[in-house]
Amino acid sequence: MGPGVTTLRPIAGQPARLVTVSTVAAPAVVDSPWLNAQRQFDNAAEILNLSPGLRAVLREVRRELVVRFPVKMDDGSVRMFEGYRVQHNVTRGPAKGGLRFHPATDIDEVKALAMWMTWKCALANLPYGGAKGGVAVDPSTLSHRELERLTRRFAAEISVLVGPESDIPAPDVNTNAEIMAWIMDTLSMQAGYSVPASVTGKPLEIGGSEGRPSATGRGVNIIAIEACKLLGMEISQTTVAIQGFGNVGSWAAQLMHESGFTICAVADVTGGIYSRSGLDIPALLAYRQQYGGVRDFPGCTPITNTELLELEVDVLVPAAMENQITARNAGRIQARLVVEGANGPTTPDADSILERRGITVVPDILANSGGVTVSYFEWVQDLQSLFWEEDEINVRLKKILTKAFNQMCEQAERHQVSLRLGAYLVAVKRVADATAVRGIYP
Ligand code: NAD
Repeated sequence: MGPGVTTLRPIAGQPARLVTVSTVAAPAVVDSPWLNAQRQFDNAAEILNLSPGLRAVLREVRRELVVRFPVKMDDGSVRMFEGYRVQHNVTRGPAKGGLRFHPATDIDEVKALAMWMTWKCALANLPYGGAKGGVAVDPSTLSHRELERLTRRFAAEISVLVGPESDIPAPDVNTNAEIMAWIMDTLSMQAGYSVPASVTGKPLEIGGSEGRPSATGRGVNIIAIEACKLLGMEISQTTVAIQGFGNVGSWAAQLMHESGFTICAVADVTGGIYSRSGLDIPALLAYRQQYGGVRDFPGCTPITNTELLELEVDVLVPAAMENQITARNAGRIQARLVVEGANGPTTPDADSILERRGITVVPDILANSGGVTVSYFEWVQDLQSLFWEEDEINVRLKKILTKAFNQMCEQAERHQVSLRLGAYLVAVKRVADATAVRGIYP
């Protein structure tokens, strides 16, 4: 993995934010996220014995929109950008999925992320299909005003697909509540009235939900606890390494620390840190806020990203980008349990190696589904104009995730397959059944 470029981007009313400009090498063809997503689907389709027609429908994306649009830069010049919005499936309800601003984002990645969203929503039994979007941009090269103009123009470009009844975006890598507010405002200006349910992950002031910023990390913590129970691991004796310290990684670290796990290592694009006896997570959060990254946090051993993944810890939480655990390093992973905070961090080839080595992987479509679940709560609250307390959000979240966890385990046990395949069997069957019941139009 190459070095990353790091920029501190202050956002009005929010702590300074580390903008990720990771220079992760572009994945080789074998690590194409889209081909990997299709392989994962094919494995489930085979066990479910899906008809050729259903397979053909579900292994392709329904709609893909590629937009090229101009943005006026602060110096008066005009720059062109390319963006994407892909809907994989909308059989069970409106499409749902985040928006990513990253230089490596392309249509292949967005298609995979959209398909994973379909399965994620189906596994949690949310009435949604799957979508994803993004712009190929290094946001650290933009001023705050340029970022706003890019966001608003991109929102206008994809507005042909987006809306509360059709497709509802949310934050993902390098996007946040402020960016969601600009999108909500742009879509509302076009409609002529406020449309809060058109996007989730918004600030509370405009119809955001209590508990949404922490939701994905909270889900990672809930699922890590369930998985430890399954494997007979005592939480107070369990060490953890977390790759990525953004929305997902930092909330996961905080909540897992509060649950009694010992977080020994963390890495972000600035570098990695390790402490055998455990990191002081509240102090690390304050440090990141001040310095924009985790590198040089006092009292720790510096480590590389590669070293973090291969550390001798009990639990590994990849919470950065896809294709981090591949056939190249899967043989060296020492953790007993991998909880996928990121989307697609483990390739299918790596999955097979980990399975052979007896390492349990809790798949992304469950482990990071806390975010979309609370996004669903936000959408429901916006549609009803009736808002819930955070306690209620967290209780409902835990109930949905533990139910999905148990259903995944039940399928894995019944078919003697990995947890990923168990999760896919639940999710793909729900979407396949809905497709069969609706029939093929006309
Ligand atoms: P973010 O932009 O808030 O944070 C990304 C973090 O990853 C940063 O700390 C960054 O420094 C780090 N990072 C990037 N490249 C890295 C590398 N090569 N090595 C080490 N660290 C690296 O993004 P996020 O919202 O936390 O998303 C992280 C992952 O979680 C993505 O896969 C995303 O799709 C997934 N996810 C996010 C949500 C959500 O609600 N935000 C929900 C579900 C899944």
